[in-house]
Amino acid sequence: MSLAPGNGPVQITQDQLQARIHELAQRIRDDYAGRDPHLICVLNGAFMFYTDLVRALGVPCTIDFLQASSYGNEKQSSGEVKLVKDLQFPISDRDVILVEDIVDTGITMSYLLHYLQGRGPASLKVAALLSKPSRRKVEVPVEYLGFTIPDAFVYGYGLDRSQYDRNLPFITSQD
Ligand code: 5GP
Repeated sequence: MSLAPGNGPVQITQDQLQARIHELAQRIRDDYAGRDPHLICVLNGAFMFYTDLVRALGVPCTIDFLQASSYGNEKQSSGEVKLVKDLQFPISDRDVILVEDIVDTGITMSYLLHYLQGRGPASLKVAALLSKPSRRKVEVPVEYLGFTIPDAFVYGYGLDRSQYDRNLPFITSQD
């Protein structure tokens, strides 16, 4: 493991990440003017994106966290999703924004949206840092999207490579 960028096709620098996150925060501010959104972080991968987005928002909001099973140490999804950590707070009548690191097949997001919808939010939108549309098996609406990327395994900035490299301040990939 190294803390240097890989040589793969997807490279997103710290500056590019921060610039895009500030654009997304501005859009959320405009869309939720006069309301206080409830932002839910999907652990573990979204933790860096989430904290930067919440900080950039600059308006009153509340936070919560949940965790779904994901890749673990493998690079292929089993297609089976389960909730590992549930929400702490109710979301009924709240304007919820679900914040995810990456939408790949869409299976995780679809499961989470279905789960949250059942808890009666006033509204439910998705913010995702990355999307790999060519891998999609289930269509999911992503209102606030950071970057569309090709089918490559990416890591850094919260996303892991066998649990390591989440602390890289940029997104990278390996050939
Ligand atoms: P999906 O259910 O959309 O196929 O997968 C979603 C989850 O798979 C993401 O939240 C993330 O944890 C993991 N994942 C998908 N693609 C990648 C990738 O390129 N790199 C890493 N580190 N995780 C990924």
